[in-house]
Amino acid sequence: MANPGQKAVLITGCSSGIGLRMAVMLAKDEKQRYHVIATMRDLKRKDKLVEAAGDAYGKSLSLAVLDVCTDESVKQCIDGIKDRHVDVLINNAGIGLVGPVESISIAEMKSVFETNFFGVIRMIKEVMPDMKKRKGGHIIVVSSVMGLQGVVFNDVYAASKFAMEGFCECLAVQLLKFNVTMSMIEPGPVHTEFESKMIQDVRQKEFPGADADTVNYFKNVYLPSSVDIFETLGQTPDDIARCTKKVIEQGSSARFRNLTNPLYTPIVALKYADETGGLSVHAFYHMLFNLGPLMHVSMKAMQYLTCGCLRSRTISPN
Ligand code: NAD
Repeated sequence: MANPGQKAVLITGCSSGIGLRMAVMLAKDEKQRYHVIATMRDLKRKDKLVEAAGDAYGKSLSLAVLDVCTDESVKQCIDGIKDRHVDVLINNAGIGLVGPVESISIAEMKSVFETNFFGVIRMIKEVMPDMKKRKGGHIIVVSSVMGLQGVVFNDVYAASKFAMEGFCECLAVQLLKFNVTMSMIEPGPVHTEFESKMIQDVRQKEFPGADADTVNYFKNVYLPSSVDIFETLGQTPDDIARCTKKVIEQGSSARFRNLTNPLYTPIVALKYADETGGLSVHAFYHMLFNLGPLMHVSMKAMQYLTCGCLRSRTISPN
């Protein structure tokens, strides 16, 4: 339970990756400004978080069960919090999906939307009315650069994040009237289980329904360049947690959009520089299909020259 003067911060998807690091960083805040309710679907997966939280566990960090895909689970979790009081809601839980569209069933696509889109909405619907009544609160959504710019073979994942961006863009305006702030966190690649699950998944899959050329482009052109990009430009979950902590500290003056990786700003800018969309579509096409080998060499050179320090650079939402 939050002490007087402490903010109650609820985070979804805390058993791994970005959610875990956010929970730990906020719970260990040097000024003890936060009480973190770190949630996950299955408490059997709590060990990594509990170990990383150390002394903060049971003091400034408590655990709760929450599956963002179930109405009852969401309601039960929020009902279990004293006065249902959440100052900061961090919607972090999410799942990825890559591959040729022909090989992805509609059921699989729906499950991505169920988590990444409806899961966030379920949380917001449960927490927002009390924030509006109290005339205060901060809703944070971990979106992605892919919520602003589509990336080949990430069609469904990007669509789920675009949907979230659109939803939040609308709601942010209304919420201002109630002194509730909405902020999007938009990371590029981050080294978490997300990336390893994707690679493992792709290795096991056969991609039924997709023609041989498409599978070849996916496996032999897209995947190697995606791995290069992760290796060269990938940030750490701590980078994203630091950025999110700054956004929380900024409170009502926090920006709506927060790209965590400045190296992606030009890519997003490309889209707005040409309203016909031609520039970004053709730039991505050339990068992937014509400049693939050159990109690989440049990425390797960048890794060599920077000794991997691009990954761990300090980031700032500003
Ligand atoms: P991750 O797989 O380590 O973490 C995702 C967490 O969400 C896991 O703990 C998982 O158990 C949880 N989760 C999944 N479905 C859930 C559900 N129904 N209810 C509750 N929890 C559920 O990956 P991550 O990289 O830490 O991902 C966190 C967020 O960051 C996601 O929203 C993801 O889209 C976003 N993101 C990740 C990257 C990246 O490259 N890793 C880049 C941009 C955005």
